[in-house]
Amino acid sequence: MPDTSDVARNMRLKAFKDWNAAQAHRRHRARVAAAAAAVVVLFGLLAGCTGDRPDFITPGAGPVPEGTDARTVLEAFRGRGMMNHLKALQRVADENGGNRASGTSGYENSARYIEEQLRAAGYSPVRQTFSYQRDDETLESFNILADTEGSADYTIVVGGHLDSVRRGPGINDNGSGVAAVLETARWMKESGIKPANRVRFAFWAAEENDFDGSRHYVQELSKTEIRRTAAYLNVDMAASPNGVRSFHDGDGSDFGDAGPGGSEEIEDVFSRYFRENSLPAESTVFDGGSDYGPFVKVGIPSGGLFSGDVERKTNAQAQAYGGEAGEDLDSCYHKACDTIKNINPELLEDMSGALAFATVSFAMAQQG
Ligand SMILES: [Zn+2]
Repeated sequence: MPDTSDVARNMRLKAFKDWNAAQAHRRHRARVAAAAAAVVVLFGLLAGCTGDRPDFITPGAGPVPEGTDARTVLEAFRGRGMMNHLKALQRVADENGGNRASGTSGYENSARYIEEQLRAAGYSPVRQTFSYQRDDETLESFNILADTEGSADYTIVVGGHLDSVRRGPGINDNGSGVAAVLETARWMKESGIKPANRVRFAFWAAEENDFDGSRHYVQELSKTEIRRTAAYLNVDMAASPNGVRSFHDGDGSDFGDAGPGGSEEIEDVFSRYFRENSLPAESTVFDGGSDYGPFVKVGIPSGGLFSGDVERKTNAQAQAYGGEAGEDLDSCYHKACDTIKNINPELLEDMSGALAFATVSFAMAQQG
């Protein structure tokens, strides 16, 4: 998550709340429209769906390939190479002045590593370049995007920010999320999963500035492309050393900020993965504080994973997850000490498996 003053944060929260109010209104209108449509269907006058976005696809409704149930996915991710990616990103930071911030050689070399890994797995990554403002400077950077096969009518975007802050190597924030996204991409190819719906893996630039990479991506989408984006799954920190297993509160039942319709299904899928693996987990705020914010603003169902930063661990959390009550979930958040030593490898496995499970659930999901 980026450094933000309280003012900027409150502005974002307000924008998010305004958006939510607009959504509530839209949902009301949609319900009225749905009721009207139901009457029409009753009289046999309407065969298809005429909504302004596709019917949300229901995860798990399609034929699920072997080896993609929650338990088997976790087992697979217990032995996968997320730590190797973090070692590589640490090396990049060490060789580039101690950070991997957007617009620097550390970012460029992080990107080359990701692209090599994606190509070796059989993907064709592309760079999406854009310019953005940082103080008075205009900087240039780029996102990396890589697609699976599958129908573009129900595209599932799965992403995390690749850039670090300037003060440190950003191995938990967000090397860990990057490792989860990359390993999900590799696992899908290796497992021979043929997605019904296209999955677009995304590695965002300049999140630590002002979500510039994900914002640019969403701004570039046409109305049709927005409508065809069935879900966005985000990971911003998945291995906090004193961390927790949490997923965003997509239905707003715990923290009040509900996402666009369909976000509750995303929350459900993450929740189901942890439940079926008997792993304690909880929901966390859905306040627009990471790359899912721009997606939510245009009405794309969103959700994601978070293992915690500057919140203190409660006694209940220490009981559920182990670790130190009263200490920060990540005491090296946005600091020079966010290194490879600032990682909980088991938590990274649990969370990466959760991302892979949710990704394949939506990739194989059917309309309806
Ligand atoms: Zn972050």
